[in-house]
Amino acid sequence: LQTDSDVVKRESDSISSRSLRNNAEKFEFQAEVSRLMDIIINSLYSNKDIFLRELISNASDALDKIRFLSLTDKEVLGEGDTSKLEIQIKLDKEKKMLSLRDRGIGMTKEDLIKNLGTIAKSGTSAFVEKMQSTGDLNLIGQFGVGFYSVYLVADYVEVISKHNDDKQYVWESKADGAFAISEDTWNEPLGRGTEIRLHLRDEAQEYLEESKLKVSKAQVLFVYITFTELVKKYSEFINFPIYIWASKE
Ligand code: ADP
Ligand code: MG
Repeated sequence: LQTDSDVVKRESDSISSRSLRNNAEKFEFQAEVSRLMDIIINSLYSNKDIFLRELISNASDALDKIRFLSLTDKEVLGEGDTSKLEIQIKLDKEKKMLSLRDRGIGMTKEDLIKNLGTIAKSGTSAFVEKMQSTGDLNLIGQFGVGFYSVYLVADYVEVISKHNDDKQYVWESKADGAFAISEDTWNEPLGRGTEIRLHLRDEAQEYLEESKLKVSKAQVLFVYITFTELVKKYSEFINFPIYIWASKE
């Protein structure tokens, strides 16, 4: 793990309004996904940092996929930075945003609609029911819906993705039953891969504190761990380097 104290500033990625972009193509989530998101959004589940485990594991899966393809076709990796199989996490206090980027396989527009809008696995209903009754979200990743755990800490999420076979797209949702997709003409080109931007809820701003993340254990005991330690905890079996940038105090 390596850290750097500077946020890499970009000119083009600011979003002034939190409403979904006007000219985007709008979609409705599959009913089961909407129900799941409602449960997550309203959850009192205290172990909210599992979202980080899910994002790191998705990034690692995506990197595994492109690495596998590259065994038979080196060209798929691209050139320069695009070929670096790594994960980057940025903490931006000013924008109240945590972003995680990988240079994995990426998602085409069709992938975004299918993977981040519907649940393919059978038995999901039973799982959603169980989660609602027990309030325990820890197993979310095992049911193929780990991505949606981002809504434990964020109220607005953007997924920017570039797959070798398609243009760069932005998926966005405020977990209100709908998501939108636009061709990305304003962000920096990713080359290849995916950047997930979590616009953190007010009560989740602690994740932007690089050195004083407050994790509540039980109700009375508070332990302080660093963000870096948290990332370490969730990347024990990850085979790709993870870099963290945090905004300056
Ligand atoms: P699972 O990882 O168990 O399939 P998730 O809800 O975590 O379930 O993710 C759903 C799907 O979204 C993944 O299977 C994958 O196809 C796609 N996906 C999520 N994150 C990424 C990413 N960073 N890069 C490429 N695809 C991704
Ligand atoms: Mg996953």
